[in-house]
Amino acid sequence: MKIHQKILVGMGLGILTGHLFGAHSPFEFFQGELGQRLMLNLNIVGEIFLKLLKMVVVPLIFFSMVLGIASMDSVASIGRAGSRILLYFLGTTALAITIGLSLSLMIEPGSYLHETKRLELMAENNEAIKKMESLSESSQSGMVELIRKNLLDMIPANPIESMAKTQILQIIVFALFFGIGITGLEEKKKKTLLETCHGINDIMIYLVEKIILLAPYGVFTLMAEAISKQGLGILNALAAYFVTVIFGLMLQLVFYLTVVRFAGGLSPLYFLRQMREALILAFSTSSSSATLPVTMRLAEKGLGIPPKTTSFVLPLGATINMDGTALYQGVAVVFICQVYGHALGPIELLTIVLMATMASIGAAGIPGAGILTLVMVLDSVAPVLVAGIALILGVDRILDMCRTTINVCGDCAACIVMNLFNTESSEPKP
Ligand code: ASP
Repeated sequence: MKIHQKILVGMGLGILTGHLFGAHSPFEFFQGELGQRLMLNLNIVGEIFLKLLKMVVVPLIFFSMVLGIASMDSVASIGRAGSRILLYFLGTTALAITIGLSLSLMIEPGSYLHETKRLELMAENNEAIKKMESLSESSQSGMVELIRKNLLDMIPANPIESMAKTQILQIIVFALFFGIGITGLEEKKKKTLLETCHGINDIMIYLVEKIILLAPYGVFTLMAEAISKQGLGILNALAAYFVTVIFGLMLQLVFYLTVVRFAGGLSPLYFLRQMREALILAFSTSSSSATLPVTMRLAEKGLGIPPKTTSFVLPLGATINMDGTALYQGVAVVFICQVYGHALGPIELLTIVLMATMASIGAAGIPGAGILTLVMVLDSVAPVLVAGIALILGVDRILDMCRTTINVCGDCAACIVMNLFNTESSEPKP
């Protein structure tokens, strides 16, 4: 069996196991502590797998990015590449939010949630409501504040600390300076340093190839754990909201596949097949950052995109290009406002586009990051409704899996587009 087939089997078995032995198991004796303990112990494999992936993330990003920057002709061409990619990311994120807003205004998912169910959901999530309210109080969530915060957060005051805390954006900025520094070195020193960076980078790639062998088992336990906590009853109550987000994400996927077809000349099926391990991993880990090593490996080996492009676009994308997250935030804000009968005018809709763009840029590529930055978006249009986020908590894990998959897919599509500007690029495969 090929590795992607094994991963798919692992995912299927994980869903089944989570359902049979989780909190909503058809067997009563598994519904309580026994099931929980079983899942907890089983999940050790998934945790080990995730930790191994995280182990290579920082050195892989740093060294591949340094190599990518050092291979560029001049600081001016780095600047050009940087502005191109930022513009592209902003454009696709704005499109994603627009899709989310348009769909939720058309479908009106908020009108499907009955008052009794709303009160029930709010009562169930008392703890979460308090957390959201305190987050909202502590975040100074004006637009200017958010831009200021995002900008300041990018600069690594201490690069070692940034690495220790896996602050990817800060590591990217440091790698950028480091790479530029290398280009200014005298030839002999430059050659030695670049050879060393190449060597370390090759080791990281080798490690990723070995770690991915664990993926079927990791995916199995991660899926089991996620599904074990997820009852289907909650899906009924929030079906309209859930479907709106999923429909929006699918439209965004169609957009990427069109981009891949026309910008990269690749068949959408070929693209999905080459990237499938990364997409399944994104789905089961709900983390763009943890998936990053695999995304980078597949984009290079499967799609034939040169490291010069992937090393720049993918780490940046995993941190700031979260179209799935932005789309979901658009739907979530409108949904909560609809539930509480809070009308949204054009100015408020525009504010949501701007705030969700900033919030998705600020969200880390880890599970649940999107719902935390959602507080700022909701705060900007309807501060009194922040507690309403509790309504959507019950389905957030599943939606997180889906939006993370779209986030990763968007980064890969961005790689193909950016590769068009790379004059020395290798020809993409059919
Ligand atoms: N889990 C998402 C990611 O890693 C972020 C989010 O929570 O939306 O891309």
